Amino acid sequence: MARYTGPACRLCRREGTKLFLKGSRCLTEKCAVERRQYAPGQHGQNTGRRRKVSEYAKQLREKQKVKRIYGLTEKQFRNIFDRVKEEPGVTGENLLVALETRLDNVVFRMGFSPSRKAARQLVRHRHIQVNGQTVDIPSFRMAPQDEIGLVPASKDLVIVKAALEALSRAAPVSWISVDSEKVVGKVTERPTRETIPIVAQEQLIVELYSK
Ligand code: SF4
Repeated sequence: MARYTGPACRLCRREGTKLFLKGSRCLTEKCAVERRQYAPGQHGQNTGRRRKVSEYAKQLREKQKVKRIYGLTEKQFRNIFDRVKEEPGVTGENLLVALETRLDNVVFRMGFSPSRKAARQLVRHRHIQVNGQTVDIPSFRMAPQDEIGLVPASKDLVIVKAALEALSRAAPVSWISVDSEKVVGKVTERPTRETIPIVAQEQLIVELYSK
């Protein structure tokens, strides 16, 4: 299935929670989830008759939510799951770690872009270097001690400067360090479930894909 190109806020309203897909706007009162607390579409406000939610529906919604947070297609998401289920450890946690250590997500976490979507653009347009080499693959998997920087000609990009300014007002994750003066960052350790600030029941996704 192709990547979703419709309104980002519609996805948040469908999941009933903020997925933070639009950068700093998500922190303002303009956020659509705060203004309209019901699902999008013709029947979104139809809360009169509540049906019992099945286990399958809960699992599906959780999977959709996490997939949408990271901006992945079903095929990309499923491929990551199939890879991590072979890894030792807890599959749900491994899934989140694999998602978090994608290059586009790390660029976003380091504050070089206002959203994961913008981070993916920076990577695809060859603005990002990993350990001194230009990498244009958003799914590139980062490992502890890997360093990210911008190619010299891209250090003054307006989008990067604005994002770094916004980051200084937010709390970065503990497994990366950022030098916003030099516009470089480092993955200091492997993230753990406790250090991944995503509200999700990843076990439901494992149950869904294990049927
Ligand atoms: Fe989601 Fe951000 Fe839109 Fe709010 S402003 S609905 S968090 S994308």
